[in-house]
Amino acid sequence: MITKFIKRILRRDPMVKHTQANHTGAPKRIPKKAHRIDPHLLSKNAVKVTHTLQQAGFEAFIVGGAVRDLALGIGPKDFDVATNATPDQVQRLFRKARLIGRRFQIVHVTFFGKGHPEIIEVSTFRALLDNAGDHVAESGRILRDNVWGSQGEDAARRDFTINAMYYDPSSETVLDYHGGMADMQKKTLRMIGDPAKRYREDPIRMLRAIRFAAKTGFTLDTATRAPIAKLSNLLQDVPSARLFDEILKLLMSGYSWAAIQGLRDAGLHHGLLPLLDHILDSGEGSKDANDFVKLALANTDERIQAGKSVSAGFLFATLLWPDLLKNWKANIAKGVSNIAALNSAMDDTIATQSSGMTIQRRFETDMCEIWSMQPRFEKRVGRYPYRLIESPRFRAGYDFMLLRCATGEQNPSIGKWWTDFIAADPAGQEALMAAAKTELGSSAGSPTKRRRRRKPKSDSSPEPEAA
Ligand code: ATP
Ligand code: MG
Repeated sequence: MITKFIKRILRRDPMVKHTQANHTGAPKRIPKKAHRIDPHLLSKNAVKVTHTLQQAGFEAFIVGGAVRDLALGIGPKDFDVATNATPDQVQRLFRKARLIGRRFQIVHVTFFGKGHPEIIEVSTFRALLDNAGDHVAESGRILRDNVWGSQGEDAARRDFTINAMYYDPSSETVLDYHGGMADMQKKTLRMIGDPAKRYREDPIRMLRAIRFAAKTGFTLDTATRAPIAKLSNLLQDVPSARLFDEILKLLMSGYSWAAIQGLRDAGLHHGLLPLLDHILDSGEGSKDANDFVKLALANTDERIQAGKSVSAGFLFATLLWPDLLKNWKANIAKGVSNIAALNSAMDDTIATQSSGMTIQRRFETDMCEIWSMQPRFEKRVGRYPYRLIESPRFRAGYDFMLLRCATGEQNPSIGKWWTDFIAADPAGQEALMAAAKTELGSSAGSPTKRRRRRKPKSDSSPEPEAA
């Protein structure tokens, strides 16, 4: 008891350092018994990286989202390491190390194991760029970010307190500069520094706030939340590719439905995806569109939480489908033939989308393939079903069609027919086609009009409909 007391007076006890941390700029040192991080959840390769750097005389820590996830008892999906070694010094220490990035130079250290190769991202402690002149745009947005600094400075330029903790696997200690661990206990997501200023520096942080709140179930601290609605238009200045990456992360977080609700509540959804404008603005959205997107996202979340892969092209195809369907129907009402109406609707939907956030070309191609396949599921006679099954993207198109069946937008019996057709042997397939023919009359599935060939968008455009 007395020793404990003396230790406290001498400030050697970690708990005492903790309380001093925010005033002196020194971090809280959180020992194993307080943070309870399970070392089994650590990546062996990340530990190898910190160890090698430390052996070479540098400081090295696991940092950021990995520490947050470890403290939550979740196995992180990737590991970042922060060090006082410069990128060149890091690169010299590892065989498979690659310098990447310009705005934010980091080193990728790759390890090849039994499964997928693992990349550990190593970044050098960076300074805050408060008055860094040409590093900052007029709006306050940071343009370049390669000024090295101390660990304390590195912590201060991170976004949320729970993302600014450093874990040293050797001593099993967490260094906490901004009260991240206390916020974890309070289940609070708090921006480091002045939130409005931090959002101006990098408006993407507003989307990150929503994503992490959805993922952790934490509440946004009032001051962190307050400026978002007013600053939401700053997202327009963010380069489209970066915006796209962040939206993709949000949709692939395993909590996409919650995150999209969060975007709406924060008034952040405008201009990101037309479908969000359509369905999330109260009163405007149709129940069907809402149901379709909700089901698609629930399906995605379920797959991601079960560790299964999700294709981004598929996901965007679902998100834009209500918009596409609306345009498709409108074109048909104008007297345009079915497939031409679909093709022109696809162009319109993509054009509207691009005015907000451009979807990467390769995902756009996937999307178009999935969409173009949809009318082909109607045709269940002759060679049509066999040709469709052979399309390289058949599986995605089929899954998409099942989703349409689940919301009743497509006839569920067609979904069942295809499920049976895939599983059947050749005789069974013939029998299924015969049944479809009887069901729909002898003209079942035959095109009413000659199909017009869609001008290919790119090399891998959808296979044109058989005439
Ligand atoms: P996850 O990888 O689970 O999506 P994460 O927190 O690891 O979450 P990353 O984008 O991998 O997110 O970034 C790693 C760390 O870098 C963050 O934890 C944070 O400390 C810092 N960081 C990333 N983006 C920003 C940003 N826009 N502003 C400030 N700090 C950031
Ligand atoms: Mg990460």
